[in-house]
Amino acid sequence: MKTIGLLGGMSWESSIEYYRIINEEIKHRLGGTYSAKIIMNSVNFHEIEVLQHNSEWEQLTNLMIEESKKLELAGADFLVICTNTMHKMANELQKNLSIPLLHIADATAKLVKDKDIQEIGLLGTKFTMEEEFYKGRLENMHKLNVILPNLDERNEIHRIIYDELVLGTINYQSKEIYKDAISNLEKNGAQGVILGCTEIGLLIKPSDTNLPTFDTTFIHSIAAVDMALEGYVL
Ligand code: GLU
Repeated sequence: MKTIGLLGGMSWESSIEYYRIINEEIKHRLGGTYSAKIIMNSVNFHEIEVLQHNSEWEQLTNLMIEESKKLELAGADFLVICTNTMHKMANELQKNLSIPLLHIADATAKLVKDKDIQEIGLLGTKFTMEEEFYKGRLENMHKLNVILPNLDERNEIHRIIYDELVLGTINYQSKEIYKDAISNLEKNGAQGVILGCTEIGLLIKPSDTNLPTFDTTFIHSIAAVDMALEGYVL
């Protein structure tokens, strides 16, 4: 079995979900006392979040390269970045590593296409919803048509992530705001919705909407198990 390198702490509220889902899936597939081989590097999210909101992306890229290299040196066979937003520097990370990076948007797009969905709604931080590294990757590399919430909704969705979800706060009113944004995506033609922030699955469950949901934390974790077990024989 390969060793999974988790670069987490962004936020730890979702990183513990990765740890749980990956181990549950290994147990489900292999049974008994089997569990995942994981090395985790969990960063201080305060430092990250301040740099993000000051647009210090070069400094963030250097920090992410340094933290990923620690996982490579410690023996990880591949890298899993436990946040959608910090895939903004995925290409730079890959250039600086000799182990592969399992991209969260690629794993998600594959599942969306497997379900024959072409028009896909996207929720996440404003970075994820608005920038090329994520929305553009879904459109250009994976040929999906991405439908976004309107600007006011995007601002609220972003605010709720940083003021509540990364702190583990689950608020009923915020849930209603997300549910309204999802129904508007449906009205605008979305056939499904990507929960493109690793904490959204803590707030929105499949039963909250008519649309199929694609929870990136779950999808990325399962893809990590697939990769860890590639070629593995019991
Ligand atoms: N975990 C979130 C994401 O998936 C947001 C936190 C971050 O800025 O990394 O985008």
